Amino acid sequence: MNEEISNIRVRFAPSPTGPLHIGGVRTALYNFLFARKHKGTFILRIEDTDQKRFVPGAEKYILDALNWCGLTPDEGPDMGGEKGPYRQSERKEIYLSFAQQLLESEHAYYAFDTPEELDEMRNKMKASGVLSPTYNSITRSSMQNSLTLGMDEARKRIDSGDSYVIRIKMPRNQEIKFNDKIRGWVSVNTNHIDDKVIYKSDGMPTYHLANVVDDYLMEITHVIRGEEWLPSAPLHVFLYQCFGWSSKMPVFSHLPLILKPDGNGKLSKRDGDRLGFPVFPLNWRASDQNEIFSGYKEQGFYPEAFVNMLAFLGWNPGTEQEIFSLSDLISEFSLDRVGKSGSKYDYEKTKWFNQQHLRLKSDSEIFETITELDNSIVEKFSREYILQVISLVKERAIFDLDILKEGSCFLFNEINFDDSAVNKKWNPAFIPHLKSLSDKLFAINEFAEKNIERVFHDYLQQHNLGLGKIMPMLRIATTGRLAGPSMFRSLEIMGKEKMLNRITEAIDTIKNG
Ligand code: GLU
Repeated sequence: MNEEISNIRVRFAPSPTGPLHIGGVRTALYNFLFARKHKGTFILRIEDTDQKRFVPGAEKYILDALNWCGLTPDEGPDMGGEKGPYRQSERKEIYLSFAQQLLESEHAYYAFDTPEELDEMRNKMKASGVLSPTYNSITRSSMQNSLTLGMDEARKRIDSGDSYVIRIKMPRNQEIKFNDKIRGWVSVNTNHIDDKVIYKSDGMPTYHLANVVDDYLMEITHVIRGEEWLPSAPLHVFLYQCFGWSSKMPVFSHLPLILKPDGNGKLSKRDGDRLGFPVFPLNWRASDQNEIFSGYKEQGFYPEAFVNMLAFLGWNPGTEQEIFSLSDLISEFSLDRVGKSGSKYDYEKTKWFNQQHLRLKSDSEIFETITELDNSIVEKFSREYILQVISLVKERAIFDLDILKEGSCFLFNEINFDDSAVNKKWNPAFIPHLKSLSDKLFAINEFAEKNIERVFHDYLQQHNLGLGKIMPMLRIATTGRLAGPSMFRSLEIMGKEKMLNRITEAIDTIKNG
């Protein structure tokens, strides 16, 4: 295997048949990391030869998703490059000459079979006990093709406008071997490979031909793609042999599957909505449908957390470290540490990654994002005050939006008393204590966390009161809830006027309500 790591060129080659699902983004990510790590080139190639499956908007979605994740290609349809065009539909003319080359070297042949004739062959084979019949080195001898009709007759039929395809001619009983970087040696007997269509009469190549020709012409050194393409790899290796390009064959790496959280199957596009989490990086709405599929971006995930999570679905650094920025991933990533077995997707863990990345952000970075989410707070409060609230509630947040929720009693003047907290812990018998405690706190000169804490505890001691009686009432009165960050720091940030007003209001509202 070619182990030399120089002039690396890798490609991410999605088909624009719909939005990119997280498995596709992971493939793009591993290609990107591998390229950046080895100072190579990351190429985006749009494989749109199957016009029937083309979905408008899908290509733009792919590019937007890559950009959001920070995986911007070096060469591609929008950014150009020396080996373009990068959209296969714009390379149509290129493929015909390669298909002809295979016809001339007798590695391929024309076939004219109609859908009915193909069905008839399959039915006959099934009747004679073949479970999954294919067009192959045995069945082709009884079909309508240039091998059975002769080349002259075949050309006549083509000239008279008959519809045809070009099929690869798989040899009988040969071993095709290649060394996959993740799976090791893979060996398949050609008897198990059918004579795949490589070129269609609509003038379009099929995936196999276009993919191999483009990898060769674009000088791709490493093919890193999902496990679902492993069954196609022997045919691709065979095509390299037919063209005489074996010495230029890329190193193959077939990535493990991403599995459903609740079973063993592959995580599918439908699982997200079924299980309540997104499977797409960005929201997706097909032009002909009303349904919107949710995306990580719109759910409030940071791209760096999403990418960090994806990196771990199949790869690990071999250490305990889990939190990586994109540039840390670039320096640590290696295909040697990509496993063979599938990784289960875990939504809770994805949220955990977001929480960890949120904690890495500075308060002023979070200030920028939350004021974008709700600009009204900058009109009401000073930047300094908002920064104090951010630092107070940051530890309790998973998303930026949680900062606004957790900090709502500081950032919005109205507070709503949580009914269950009131039912559980609001005891009218202690209202006189709450009142005189608040007077004592209000009298503090330097209204700071430490002093508040001291006065609070002194009061409890003097009156022989347990913490569990008065603290929850103080919390409910000033924040509306029972859970929250440090009470004393919360009061300091709130200020003593607001504290006193809230306690007075709470006593009134809760008593009357
Ligand atoms: N067009 C294929 C896809 O949609 C590319 C497979 C490959 O990378 O060879 O995933």
